[in-house]
Amino acid sequence: MSIKIFNTLTREKEDFIPNVEGKVNMYTCGPTVYHFAHIGNLRSYIMEDVLEKILRYAGYDVKRVMNITDVGHLSSDADTGEDKMLKGAKREHKTVMEIAKFYTDAFFADCAKLNIKTPDVVEPATNCIDEFIEMIKVLLKKGYAYQAGENIYFDTSKLQNYYVFGNQNEEELMVGVREDVTEDENKKNKNDFVLWFTKSKFEDQALKWDSPWGVGYPGWHIECSCISMKHLGEYMDIHCGGIDNMFPHHTNEIAQSESYLGHKWCNYWFHVHHLNDQSGKMSKSKGEFLTVSLLEQKGYDPVAYRFFCLQSHYRKPLVFSYEALEQATGTYKKLKKRIADLDANGVVDNSAVEEYKAKFVEAVGNDVNTSMGITLLYDVLKTELNDATKRAIIDSFDYVLSLDLLKLKEEAKEESGVDAELEAFVLAKIEERKAAKKEKNFARADEIRAELLEKGIEIKDTREGVVWSRV
Ligand code: AMP
Ligand code: ZN
Repeated sequence: MSIKIFNTLTREKEDFIPNVEGKVNMYTCGPTVYHFAHIGNLRSYIMEDVLEKILRYAGYDVKRVMNITDVGHLSSDADTGEDKMLKGAKREHKTVMEIAKFYTDAFFADCAKLNIKTPDVVEPATNCIDEFIEMIKVLLKKGYAYQAGENIYFDTSKLQNYYVFGNQNEEELMVGVREDVTEDENKKNKNDFVLWFTKSKFEDQALKWDSPWGVGYPGWHIECSCISMKHLGEYMDIHCGGIDNMFPHHTNEIAQSESYLGHKWCNYWFHVHHLNDQSGKMSKSKGEFLTVSLLEQKGYDPVAYRFFCLQSHYRKPLVFSYEALEQATGTYKKLKKRIADLDANGVVDNSAVEEYKAKFVEAVGNDVNTSMGITLLYDVLKTELNDATKRAIIDSFDYVLSLDLLKLKEEAKEESGVDAELEAFVLAKIEERKAAKKEKNFARADEIRAELLEKGIEIKDTREGVVWSRV
């Protein structure tokens, strides 16, 4: 059973071959814990979770490591601007460590709601300052780094091929928005990046450490190189992150890691494309941003959001709207209801289970094609197999999909009775109101709103579309 992964490094879908047979070393860029994760960030973690689980499902022994960025990530990925953690601490009148603890816990609470497995190793950057200093010392000794204006920089002119992810121009690579961009005059080359700061033109970090170059703090990129090597060694199979991480973060990680090691570091680069809202980029700086808690407040099941993500391919941008989530929720509930109606009694046909497991690896293992996995699930429901066998197959698929497909059988049955009916009614009314507004029949639109309110349903017009909740 082979797994295929689109490798951003070669820009091709490749058969996955690990460095050591049967084992996978996998690293994921973790969150910057200065605020809640938005559901865009979580799209990346959901899809990376599926990648990890399909590898395990296919029989690989996976070790996955994730860092927690609690120092060094500035408000621009390009090394300029204020420190994000410091900004967060100021905003909430707390210490940087309090902010880091609070938002790390919040991140894992969100992940749990979305059935995202916690990686085998989770390491905050502030745990590894000694390792960062050691790596920087070696880079200086090998001539890949220099000291200027009291900071240590990586010298990108020492590399033959800095743009490892292709020949695109920087604007194309720079998917993330650049905020606060100012040129740093200490840099010898435009793309040089800071390994160690002792002086920033912004207010200084609250957390600082001794180093051979003075009291200071690390740059952002160094942490992922060090933390991954600390736990996974010098050879890595898969490195994951959102597409905005490709440049400059991952480009810089590769530059410093391979200069330090003197050999190729990571074979496969897995990048998840962005979730956007209807206005474009999803951002944490806008007032009310989209979090898992917000979805819950509006009555959505976080797992329905996971289902929404799994319906699309990770290498395509995905646009979020409440209407789209509403639709996904409806489909998800109906699917759960069909599964809940399966009779658990009966003899499981184990050879059929094995046959479908192999088909599932072929489907989802083909570059994390989650929608093919869901299609296969519907195919199973349509077969002539007995209900017990169908349940066993679905249970097995759900190890990877993690959609609670067999959970809360009774609850799902109940919900699908009353709620599905109410939901269909509300959605029809929303459509009717939309049509009335289009025809400029605002009186009718208001009437529909009042009609719904009478039934205890409140509707709101938001940028992402119409949302409804119970009053
Ligand atoms: P951060 O907390 O900013 O370090 O980001 C955490 C993860 O979310 C990184 O892997 C980013 O690449 C990813 N990410 C950021 N914005 C989005 C988005 N709109 N959609 C999907 N992933 C994103
Ligand atoms: Zn990283």
